Amino acid sequence: MTTYPVNAFTAPKGTYDLTPPDSATFLAVREALAAPLRRSGYGYIETPGFEHVELFSRGVGESTDIVTKEMYTLTTKGGTELALRPEGTASVLRAALERNLHKAGNLPVKLWYSGSYYRYERPQAGRYRHFSQVGAEAIGAEDPALDAELIILAVDAYRSLGLRDFRLLLNSLGDKECRPAYREALQGFLRGLDLDEETRRRIEINPLRVLDDKREAVRKQLVGAPALRDHLCEACKVYHERVRQLLTAAGVVFEDDEKLVRGLDYYTRTTFEFIHDGLGSQSAVGGGGRYDGLSEMIGGPALPSVGWALGVDRTVLALRAEGVELELPAATEVYAVPLGDAARDVLFDLVTALRRAGVAADFAFGGKGLKNAMKSANRSGARFALVAGERDLAEGVVQLKDLESGDQTPVALDAVVEELRARRG
Ligand code: ATP
Ligand code: MG
Repeated sequence: MTTYPVNAFTAPKGTYDLTPPDSATFLAVREALAAPLRRSGYGYIETPGFEHVELFSRGVGESTDIVTKEMYTLTTKGGTELALRPEGTASVLRAALERNLHKAGNLPVKLWYSGSYYRYERPQAGRYRHFSQVGAEAIGAEDPALDAELIILAVDAYRSLGLRDFRLLLNSLGDKECRPAYREALQGFLRGLDLDEETRRRIEINPLRVLDDKREAVRKQLVGAPALRDHLCEACKVYHERVRQLLTAAGVVFEDDEKLVRGLDYYTRTTFEFIHDGLGSQSAVGGGGRYDGLSEMIGGPALPSVGWALGVDRTVLALRAEGVELELPAATEVYAVPLGDAARDVLFDLVTALRRAGVAADFAFGGKGLKNAMKSANRSGARFALVAGERDLAEGVVQLKDLESGDQTPVALDAVVEELRARRG
């Protein structure tokens, strides 16, 4: 007999189950985040939940928290090293390259995705080990309008949900022309600070990420650090200015944030993050940027690209923090309550017909009595109940009951579908 640890039947730490009714909100949020992409030329892509570890160590960066601390890795029985995907961009680019999407002659390749991501983090409100993102990548074009497009689509997605207390932080990280000189200047500055061993190592591997340090003691010392703004080359300056102009023209408010470098190594030029002020310290609801060098880092041709990922879990929390209730369509519009066996068969047929006609309908299963069945009808959230007993059937009608007003009217059996379609407007 196998014995299981006591917690074998609870969800693993840092995860949670999505169940009705909350799952309906989650699904609606996911759909709302994707909706602007779907009407902007982005095609849906789905990649595996795991990849070769190397894709992430190369693509996300050996020095990032994601790769060094947060990745779930496993060795298969055949000896292959895999990792549960911690983020989407590397996988999407890998798939696009492997399928030669970039050679179909239509750049940029615009893709969107939605799914589960895994990071071994310290669980807390808004920070989970399994979470959900909706993401978008535009691969193979260097055009400030493309950066602006993606940012505008994210803003429109948040707004469509009714969110208001979010802010957009914007920065440029420069490119391979100007970043190296800045990197050196920054390293010079950072080496003079009082920092722990790990952070000192980071200065040598990826000094820009020290700017991303969230600890107060470090942040204080960073005042006066050389600013990337003063080191951007002319091309990067012009590019960034264009992005800013396009956003302004679209009515998108942003804050220039010098210190926004983001946690991933692959970003160049435009980087951005959406912050929600109602979420405490897990305040980033989404973020992204341009990654012109990533394709080459994972063995592809030069393909300048830009993308973002929005966190579904945190967006749901942000809605809650703002007290926004989404208007969700009723899961069940009509609930059928049969009284007796003959009525069961007739109403079951009717429910099938309603569903086929596009009306959300449910049925009192399990031979419930009238009182219990009416309770279920009310709990289902349905506006209408269809009740029928033998006498109704003999007359060829069912009773259509409006559960809000309590009004009840007999409706001819063959007119029920039309009547309900008309009543729900
Ligand atoms: P943070 O700084 O909060 O760790 P991040 O920069 O690591 O965020 P990204 O890699 O940019 O996050 O992922 C995009 C979005 O995915 C984030 O803005 C956030 O909304 C969401 N996200 C990232 N990690 C988690 C997590 N562990 N739990 C829930 N949502 C997450
Ligand atoms: Mg993180």
